[in-house]
Amino acid sequence: MDHKTLLKKIKLSIQLMELHDENPFKIRSYQSALISLERGDQDIMGLSEAELAKIQGVGKSMGEAIQQLKETDTFPFLEELLTKTPEGIMEVLQIKGLGPKKVKILWEELGITSTHELMEACQSGKVAKIKGFGEKTQDTIIQNLEFKASNAGKWLYAAIEELIGQLEETLRLMAPEADLAIVGDFARQIEVITEAEFLIASDEMAAVKSKIKAMESIEWILLESGPRTLRGKLKEIDLRVSIHFCSKEDFLWKKLSLIASPFHLDSMVDEKESVAQKLQKKDYSREAEFFSRNNLQFIPAEMREGFGEVELAKEHKIPELLTEKDLKGILHNHSTYSDGKHSLKQMAMYCKELGYEYLGISDHSKTAFYAGGLTEDQILKQHQEIDALNVEMAPFRIFKGIESDILSDGKLDYVDSVLATFDFIVASVHSILNMDIKRATTRLITAIENPYTTILGHPTGRLLLRRQGYPLDHKAIIDACAANNVVIEINANPWRLDLDWRYVRYAMDQGVMLSINPDAHAMESYADMKYGVLVGRKGGLSKEMTLNAMTGEEIGTYFNSRLEKLKVKK
Ligand SMILES: [Zn+2]
Ligand SMILES: [Zn+2]
Repeated sequence: MDHKTLLKKIKLSIQLMELHDENPFKIRSYQSALISLERGDQDIMGLSEAELAKIQGVGKSMGEAIQQLKETDTFPFLEELLTKTPEGIMEVLQIKGLGPKKVKILWEELGITSTHELMEACQSGKVAKIKGFGEKTQDTIIQNLEFKASNAGKWLYAAIEELIGQLEETLRLMAPEADLAIVGDFARQIEVITEAEFLIASDEMAAVKSKIKAMESIEWILLESGPRTLRGKLKEIDLRVSIHFCSKEDFLWKKLSLIASPFHLDSMVDEKESVAQKLQKKDYSREAEFFSRNNLQFIPAEMREGFGEVELAKEHKIPELLTEKDLKGILHNHSTYSDGKHSLKQMAMYCKELGYEYLGISDHSKTAFYAGGLTEDQILKQHQEIDALNVEMAPFRIFKGIESDILSDGKLDYVDSVLATFDFIVASVHSILNMDIKRATTRLITAIENPYTTILGHPTGRLLLRRQGYPLDHKAIIDACAANNVVIEINANPWRLDLDWRYVRYAMDQGVMLSINPDAHAMESYADMKYGVLVGRKGGLSKEMTLNAMTGEEIGTYFNSRLEKLKVKK
C-alpha cells in the first residue's frame, strides 16, 4: 500500500460511517485526522506509530488503524463497515453528486443497492419524488450514471502507466528469450487508455503461452481469444489486456502494425499503397529502415495516428519534437497565497533544485474566492516577496503572474493598472462552464483580445473522464491567439491535457506558441510536465514553438517586450 491508497481507505471508512449513521463525534475525528494527513508533507508510510500519533488530529485509535492499514491493507472497523454494506452500494457511492447521506435515503426509501436499480428508479421518476431530491437532482443522477457507464474500463494514461510497466516486466521475466513490445494506444501515449496490449515473439511459444495463461492477475476470456491473441481483463481493476503472439521473423512488422492506429495504417504512402501494404512487404530489418525505404521521414510512435503525419513525413516536415529536457522553466503555478499546498519560497526553491532557470507563479485572482483568490493588497505583498527572493536566489528568477478569471462577459477581473504590474497573465475560465459554443467562443476571444493576456489557460475546462469541457470553435480561438500574440497553454495535469493535442499543429501553423504548464498546486506536481510533453509531442510540438523552452533571459525579454508595447499604445 502507498500513501495515496491509505488516504483513500480512510476516506472510504468515513463515507461508510456516514452511510451507517455512526457516532458523529467519531466521524468528525476521522475527518479532522484525514484533513491533517492530506495537508502534511510527510509520507505516512515512513512514519512510526508514535510519530503518527503526534500529528494533529490523529489520536491513538486512528494511529492504530493506520498502522493496521499499513500492515494488512485494512483495519477491523473498516471490515466491519464493509460487511454490513451491500456490494452495489459501494458503486452507488461513487456517483458524483451523491453523498453518503443521499445514498442512505435511496437505500432506505427505495431499496436501491446498485447503480442499475438507481437508473431504473430515476427513469421511472421515483427518485424525483423523494423529499430533498426533485427533478433536477434526478436528471443530474441520470447524466452522471450515463457518463460513468461510458467511462467504464477507461483510464488516464498517467493512472495506469506504472501498472502497464509492471505487466511488461512480469512478461519479460516469464519469457526472457522472447522479443516483447508494448503496442496499441498506450504505445502511442493516448491520453485515455482502455486496453493494455503487448506483442510477444518467442521460439518456445507453447511454453510461454501456458505460463501467461496461468497468470493470477488476469482473467482470460477464452471466447474472445484465438491462437494468435489472448484477451482478458485484469482482476484488480477494470482494464482489458491483450497479448499478441508471432514468430521472431514477424516481430518487427507486427509491432509496427500494432502500434499504429487504423487511420495511420490506411494513410497512403504513394499513389498505390498504404502504410499497411508497405509494412506487409517486410523488406526492412529495423524500424527506421521501413521509413527510409519508403522515402518517409521517421515518424515517432506517438504521432502514428493518421492525423496528417504521413503527408508531413513525405515532405520531411516533421519538426524535431519537444523533450522534457528542453523545458527551462515552469509557468502557471499556485502557492499558499491562494489554494496551493506549498509556500512561494518552497515552490521556488524546489523548482531551482530541479535545475530549472525560472518559475512563473500565478495564483488565483480575486473572483475565485473559493480558491483564496488574491486581493490587490495580497498581490502587492506577493510582489514584494518575489522581489526579495529574486535577489536571494539569483540568477534563478521568479516571474510575477496571476491566473486571472475570465468573467462571463470575457473581461479579466482586475483593472488595467493592476494587470500592468504582472510579468505575465494566464487567463482562465473557472465558472459558468455550461455555455453553448457561440457564447463560450466569444467569451474566450474577448479575453484573448485583452492586451494584458499572455497565456490562455486550460482552454476548454475539461476534466478527462470526469467532465466534458465547454464546446469551443477551436480554430477561431487559435486564430484570435495568433492575431493577438497570445500563447496557449497545454495544461499538463493528466486530468486536463487541455489544449487537446489534436489542435497543436493548427496552432503552430498559425504561429501560436504553446506553453507546457503543470498548473501545480504542490511542488510534486511539477512532475506532471512530463504528460504535457507527451501530448505536445503527439501533436507534433517543437522546442521552438514552446514558450517555456525559452531560457530565463529570453523569456524575461519576451515578457518585457510585450509590456513595452502596451506602454507605447497607451
Ligand atoms: Zn485554472
Ligand atoms: Zn491554475
